[in-house]
Amino acid sequence: MVVVGAGPTGLMMAAELAVGGAKVQLLEERVDMPNITRAFAVHARTLELLDARGLADELLTRGTPVYEVAPPGGVTMNLRELPSRFGMLLIVPQSGTEQVLQTRVDDLGVQVARGAEVVGLAEDDHGVNVQCADGTSISTRYVVGCDGAHSTVRRLAGIEFTGKQYETHILLADVHLTRAPQETLSGVTNERGAVLIIPFGDGWFRAIAWDRLREQAPLKEPVTFDEIRDSFHRIADEDYGMTDMRWSSRFLSERKQAERYRAGRVFIAGDAAHVHSPLGGQGMNTGIADAMNLGWKLAEAVGGTAPGWLLDSYESERRPVGAAVLRLTDAFNQLVLGRSKAQRLVQSLAIGTITRLPAGRRFMAGRLSQIGIDYPRASRGEHRLIGKRMPDTDCGGTRLYELLREGRFVMLTNGEVDVDRADVVHATHRDSDLPAAVLVRPDCYVGWADDQVPTEAHIAAAIAHWKRTAQK
Ligand SMILES: Cc1cc2nc3c(=O)[nH]c(=O)nc-3n(C[C@H](O)[C@H](O)[C@H](O)COP(=O)(O)OP(=O)(O)OC[C@H]3O[C@@H](n4cnc5c(N)ncnc54)[C@H](O)[C@@H]3O)c2cc1C
Repeated sequence: MVVVGAGPTGLMMAAELAVGGAKVQLLEERVDMPNITRAFAVHARTLELLDARGLADELLTRGTPVYEVAPPGGVTMNLRELPSRFGMLLIVPQSGTEQVLQTRVDDLGVQVARGAEVVGLAEDDHGVNVQCADGTSISTRYVVGCDGAHSTVRRLAGIEFTGKQYETHILLADVHLTRAPQETLSGVTNERGAVLIIPFGDGWFRAIAWDRLREQAPLKEPVTFDEIRDSFHRIADEDYGMTDMRWSSRFLSERKQAERYRAGRVFIAGDAAHVHSPLGGQGMNTGIADAMNLGWKLAEAVGGTAPGWLLDSYESERRPVGAAVLRLTDAFNQLVLGRSKAQRLVQSLAIGTITRLPAGRRFMAGRLSQIGIDYPRASRGEHRLIGKRMPDTDCGGTRLYELLREGRFVMLTNGEVDVDRADVVHATHRDSDLPAAVLVRPDCYVGWADDQVPTEAHIAAAIAHWKRTAQK
């Protein structure tokens, strides 16, 4: 297996493949870790997915939790009310998340080649030949392109990337503040633009400005200290005592999605498959969840246990999620940065109306935190829970998400049933809200459920739907 790109998506993908037993090579063109940070917001569902691999606690020590957020134009939501162990938004620089994932990849013994730029792909019936810029090549069964918004893998696989560019240039700067705001996430939005201040936790802050007066400044023009400070003055009447700047950039966001997530033996995930406005902090979170969805499926394919349809379920499950993220972030973008007052008003009314009602706030919190993401039930059985996110639950002294740490399926039953499979963890639950039996996929979604205590034959059939017995 070859994974291209060692950003958050590629690191998670490589780790998931390795935990599933596949031999993985991770190719990354950069030699050093990146010195700029983009993502800050790690949402509750991502923390759950990381918890299912034993990585959430380490990330929590590196970040600052935020318990209340207000979507643009909406009413404040209390994230403590999320039905999750992680009722919060964790503010942690992307580099911190990448370090946790890099350690995981190292611990799992993944081969990481830095300075390896992929420039060519040649596919035949048996596999793919991956060519690097230094003239070396690797033959492998499958390739996953996690190589970011300008993905070479996507282009080489002939996958269209369609959408549009936003018109507004965003200013980013890392600054020191002498009058830092009290709240962890602090922002101002008005007709002059929007500004946001986010702490790195080491005394530096990321200042972000969407300034209507400067939105058309050429992308190549460097952002000066005076420019970012002036934007803050103009929009927020306050510069929080900015003293110095160590880095800055002018950035243009896009709203694009790949027409397909798979072309033969080549898959794409993360920013290679979808890019959108950073408002809402969804990109990295969506990429990590893509990796969690595809990793175990590809590992099964390599191990010879995947049913024929399994690999295609990656696109049918994850592409609609990407499309929904594009719609949500586009609505935020129109609201905060839209040029038309009428459009801003429509979005503001929509988001304001949704979040005014408790059920609407729960819906919006579910979308933002990604806790509300479910997959289509398709043809995998009748039970209402199939395809739903599986919440953590007590399994007699152990949590379900601890049982998922080896990346295997978990069969939960509320009584003693024999599950004679070494590749499936079996545990009993005492949760009266859960059905008598639930088969939990390695990516923490329900694969099958039954309200009656199942027979061994039923259980064997449910597992066989997802996993063939490996050929000796
Ligand atoms: C201002 C800003 C704020 C953001 N805030 C958030 C946020 O709060 N929360 C959130 O979830 N997301 C946020 N995002 C989005 C987030 O940063 C991205 O979605 C995330 O980095 C995508 O991860 P990735 O691994 O898919 O791609 P990338 O991080 O782009 O990684 C791709 C990797 O592939 C490598 N590569 C590229 N081409 C090749 C090649 N040919 N061969 C080998 N290697 C290659 C690159 O060097 C790179 O390391 C933000 C983005 C911006 C710009």
